[in-house]
Amino acid sequence: MSQIFTKVALMGAAMAALSWGGPALAQDSSHKVAVFAAAEALQPKVVAWRRDIHQHPELGNREFRTSALVAEHLRALGYVVKTGVAHTGVVATLKGDKPGGVVALRADMDALPVEEKTGLAFASKVVGEYNGQPTPVMHACGHDAHVAILMGAAEVLAGMKAEIAGTVVLIFQPAEEGPPPGEEGGAAMMVAEGVLTNPRPGAIFGLHVSPGEVGAIAYRSGPMMAAADSFEIRIKGKQTHGARPWDGVDLASLSSEIVQAFNQIAARRLDVARSPTVITVAVIQSGVRHNIIPEDMMMGGTLRTFDPEMRTATIAQMQAAVDSIVARYGAKGALAMGGATPVVSNDADLARLMAPTLAAAASGPVDPDTGKITGAEDFAEFQAVVPGLFYRLGVGFPPGTNHSPFFTIDEAALEVGVRAQVLTALDYLDKVAGGPAD
Ligand SMILES: [Zn+2]
Ligand SMILES: [Zn+2]
Repeated sequence: MSQIFTKVALMGAAMAALSWGGPALAQDSSHKVAVFAAAEALQPKVVAWRRDIHQHPELGNREFRTSALVAEHLRALGYVVKTGVAHTGVVATLKGDKPGGVVALRADMDALPVEEKTGLAFASKVVGEYNGQPTPVMHACGHDAHVAILMGAAEVLAGMKAEIAGTVVLIFQPAEEGPPPGEEGGAAMMVAEGVLTNPRPGAIFGLHVSPGEVGAIAYRSGPMMAAADSFEIRIKGKQTHGARPWDGVDLASLSSEIVQAFNQIAARRLDVARSPTVITVAVIQSGVRHNIIPEDMMMGGTLRTFDPEMRTATIAQMQAAVDSIVARYGAKGALAMGGATPVVSNDADLARLMAPTLAAAASGPVDPDTGKITGAEDFAEFQAVVPGLFYRLGVGFPPGTNHSPFFTIDEAALEVGVRAQVLTALDYLDKVAGGPAD
């Protein structure tokens, strides 16, 4: 969970007194005119970068070409650039001409093992390797747009160095969708390698493209995206003939009891009014033939929660359910929790502080109180260390959602993304420096 940052909290209080947090959001960013002009002028370049990256997608921890492209661009702009962070990550800093605080902007770079079906002229034909198998690769989550937007923001910021009251840190992150099996990676590894230290940002901002009106911006204070835990249950029974289940352990029956027990926990044993919880069994692997009851079974799934206490309690209930069912069947095995991503939780003071800025950047409706979603994002790892604000950027209504082979974006949204990234950085630094945003 993100901490409350005293200075931001004070600014938030001052802001409330000035009624900035009011619904009119009348106060524009003082940088708006310059940033809008710069983002508009840069739009053809941002579109070209996005198409190039889209046509050359790379899986998590394999973003070699993408990170080289990013690093070269940032070096040419005068940033101090560090490469090879958490495998293929790039971290760049730009010191403004005015003294002040530190702010970070983040973009994720990885693509997915999806076969693109958009029919775009620059559609991916790339085949990568996933789980040791050749697999088509596609930017099906829109991270190509995130990289292009932050490259554009980098260029606008470099051109406005004289206006920057402090230091901007740009974080180009590998493996947001999770590192390949057996490898580490993503935001957690970047944090472990010290990207949020020396200098330590006072705040971090990030965006995700998402189906919706072009240029719309949506976010909420507090928990916005779920914590995600993967789990695995490996059961050993006793193999027998399908005609004589009493001579062995019927793993099919056992698996169905576990599924029902999990459904019952989510629907009947948790306070559904307090916070949503989802338990999904997505994998059941066992058996080879219609008349053999097998010896081994693997079940796997995901747990989504928004409340840390409920998460702990739910895991305990799941473990107890599995233990008792396994014991009753005379089998062996237990629930093992796997990788965990914390809740994407937006710092309330930061969200209030930046509301006028996001309203200024958007070209569509702005929703500062959007509903929670059960998807997860490892931006949460950064927010666990410094106050952060994550928001969704509307990119039109493509024929498929994120992760679909038909996912694409209306490129007009790229310009709005550049504006939002630049303005959040500049305005945040102005506000914590005590400077005016007019
Ligand atoms: Zn995704
Ligand atoms: Zn994503």
